[in-house]
Amino acid sequence: MIPDIINELGENRESYFNAGSPPIFSTSNFLFDKVKDMREAMVTSNEKPFYTRGHNPTTRILEKKIAALENTESAIAVSSGMGAVAIGMLSQLKSGDHLICIKKPYTGTDKLTNKILPKFNIETTFIEGKTIDEFKNAIKSNTKLIYLESPNSWTYEMQDLKKISDLAKEKNIITAIDNSYASPINCNPSDWGIDIIIHSATKYIGGHSNAMGGIICSSKKIIDQMYECEYTLLGNVMSPFNSWIFINGLRTLKVRMKQISKSTPKIVKFLKNHPKIKKVIYPHSKNFDQKNLVKKYLKNPCGQFSIQLKSQSKKEIESFCDKLHHFKMACSWGGYESLIFPEIARYNSSSKYYNDTEFLPINYIRFYIGLEDKKMLIDDLKKALN
Ligand SMILES: *Cc1c(COP(=O)(O)O)cnc(C)c1O
Repeated sequence: MIPDIINELGENRESYFNAGSPPIFSTSNFLFDKVKDMREAMVTSNEKPFYTRGHNPTTRILEKKIAALENTESAIAVSSGMGAVAIGMLSQLKSGDHLICIKKPYTGTDKLTNKILPKFNIETTFIEGKTIDEFKNAIKSNTKLIYLESPNSWTYEMQDLKKISDLAKEKNIITAIDNSYASPINCNPSDWGIDIIIHSATKYIGGHSNAMGGIICSSKKIIDQMYECEYTLLGNVMSPFNSWIFINGLRTLKVRMKQISKSTPKIVKFLKNHPKIKKVIYPHSKNFDQKNLVKKYLKNPCGQFSIQLKSQSKKEIESFCDKLHHFKMACSWGGYESLIFPEIARYNSSSKYYNDTEFLPINYIRFYIGLEDKKMLIDDLKKALN
């Protein structure tokens, strides 16, 4: 990981008047005077820009920085995290193939595997994924992809990345992971042999809740294949303006993560000791049941955890959420602002999810800690709990 040189990486300042912040190349076309030049740009489309649904210089800067952060040879930026998940999966699977996916992935990923993949005759086996034997038992002769989230961003089950990638390599299966929870600062799955690393850039990478984007990191070979096919043909392009926003986000990613790593455990501790809280689920808690995996794979504490209130009363649970002043409610996370997502908000909507579990308990609330002062956040919690 080389975040300290992230400012220079990928930038060609001399080609744009040494601007410190790169220009937003807001253009669809790149123009040519000579057939020879046009032909050259078409053949080496990875190096010379030809058309923005493919190569845009602002986006390319972002891609180079992220590839370096994730320790992979290459990366492509797409229009959302779900766009990255979709390309990651569709590029590795064809009709008749089998996918192994962890049981409680991000809700959009869950729906993709349940609604879109079956249309193409792709079968998915969902496993909890806590032991390597579960993976061994789930592998079939047509298994082509193992899809992970370690941890996921609701219930935080983790997987042993090294053991899984060793097993997958032996069986010629590609591994992919949604690494959004940890960000490239707190986990680099390629170091453990994982082939494809996916981020919702909308979250930590952007960091300001002001743009949607997704990133896929992998070997040059895998990214070039995606580039030629799913990326350009499904039209899942990041706008140059968003690429510029994410470059800005990357410049402060390390310090934002540092702040979050410091404040989140303190807030977790406060909640754990509060008499109205039944339990707190957080990978960096002492009583987390996969402590050894946390130690091995997560470099620092991250900003998401969940709590269960003691109360089962709908009125009390909603009143607690409504009374929080500094924690707003939203589905996303990873920005400057602290947020909650109460499970109870999902009740009465048609938004059922997860293959077999449907809803979590009514008193379950997902927290994200932003960049605010921890004392202010704890005071807010205290008031709402009382
Ligand atoms: C938000 C999120 C996604 C989807 O990203 P979008 O940018 O919202 O499309 C995927 N995985 C995880 C873990 C997420 O939190």
